[in-house]
Amino acid sequence: MPSLSVPAPRCLQKPLVVPHRHMFGPGPSNVPPRILEAGANPVIGHMHPEIFEIMSDIKSGIQYMFQTQNKMTLAVSGTGHTAMECAIFNTVEPGDSVLVVVNGIWGERAAEMAERIGAKVNTIVAPPGGYITNADIEKALSKHRPALFFLAHGESSTGVLHPLDGIGQLCHKYNCLFLVDSVASIGGSPLYMDQQEIDILYSGSQKVLNAPPGTAPISFSERACQKVFNRRTKPVSFFLDLNWLANYWGCDGKPTRVYHHTGPVTAFYSLRESLAVFAEEGLENSWERHQTVAEYFHAGLESMGLKLFVKEKQARLPTVTTIVAPYGYDWKEITSYIMKTHNLEISGGLGPSVGLVREATGWWFSGNLSVSAYVNFTCCFWSFQVLRVGLMGCNSTKANVDMVLAALRDALKHCHRSKV
Ligand code: PMP
Repeated sequence: MPSLSVPAPRCLQKPLVVPHRHMFGPGPSNVPPRILEAGANPVIGHMHPEIFEIMSDIKSGIQYMFQTQNKMTLAVSGTGHTAMECAIFNTVEPGDSVLVVVNGIWGERAAEMAERIGAKVNTIVAPPGGYITNADIEKALSKHRPALFFLAHGESSTGVLHPLDGIGQLCHKYNCLFLVDSVASIGGSPLYMDQQEIDILYSGSQKVLNAPPGTAPISFSERACQKVFNRRTKPVSFFLDLNWLANYWGCDGKPTRVYHHTGPVTAFYSLRESLAVFAEEGLENSWERHQTVAEYFHAGLESMGLKLFVKEKQARLPTVTTIVAPYGYDWKEITSYIMKTHNLEISGGLGPSVGLVREATGWWFSGNLSVSAYVNFTCCFWSFQVLRVGLMGCNSTKANVDMVLAALRDALKHCHRSKV
């Protein structure tokens, strides 16, 4: 036998050290001990009856959180991106027309995912920190006749809460499926999947739910299932094929479940516990708490002379707040100072909300751009410097707002301010 050419790494001889930290960025948020402890339960087989029962509880919890009766409701093994690809890969076939609202990075990514599988993608680009009206959505639906329409409800990159009312009905008038990303908004802001006629809705575990990252709730309406189960071609991903996932999650009515992949059982324990905590508080109480705390936070920021990136109050996402970076400061210095001095994470911009400081103008663009052309386009015109603060789930409290405001005040006193 040859001798080992790679020795056991010395770094692994040191014990694992993970600091406690206030997680007030756009995600992940803090995981309370009750949810962490649930994840520390023993690993048993992912096809054991106890796990199927836990999965069934998770399904009920997601139906409550999404306000849906959909049978096809489950949690994908993976993060929000996995659910995004599960939604798009199952409902879109090569050559299908897809229409995407781009009001930040998540629209850009959805457009890219659909383009990668050969869809014809059109975008409607919202003004910075703004959203698209139903009249403009209807114009675009009637022009492009898409099979799928994508919208991020809570755009965590820009801090926009996109209105949802009436859009599902418009999509169905034009025979189109309505796909909504609620990773950053679910549980923090009202959403009614069935009543708002949303066909595919997905989220993530690590934001308002306060579970560790790694599982992503998703649900498909009857109309969406009709399209998914009558495809001409198989979805490009075996792992995300809804035929398989539906069976693993007991959503297809078949008496036996067949091995598809090894479900992350400890992540299921945490997700189940987080849904239990959530159900104990109640959906409406959670919405109200996030809204009250967000308004308290916004008032505090304005009283410090800071400006919110989203001008229209109703369009402000209660879970993730975007603040125009104060003039003359480098946002990176502010976020690092706060991390170092206050052991608290807040973050800078992402996608359209990163870069140079500019005033928001009121234009929007509707067009048929390839994703790369679109990215250049946004780089030229959409460059903002913002700070993003996420107060989600158990982190959404007035005491935490006071802590963030104090940290910001301290940072503005101590960080370098250019006189130019
Ligand atoms: N959509 C939105 C709105 C998000 O905020 C995020 C995470 N920041 C995602 C999708 C992707 O989720 P993940 O990082 O868990 O893949």
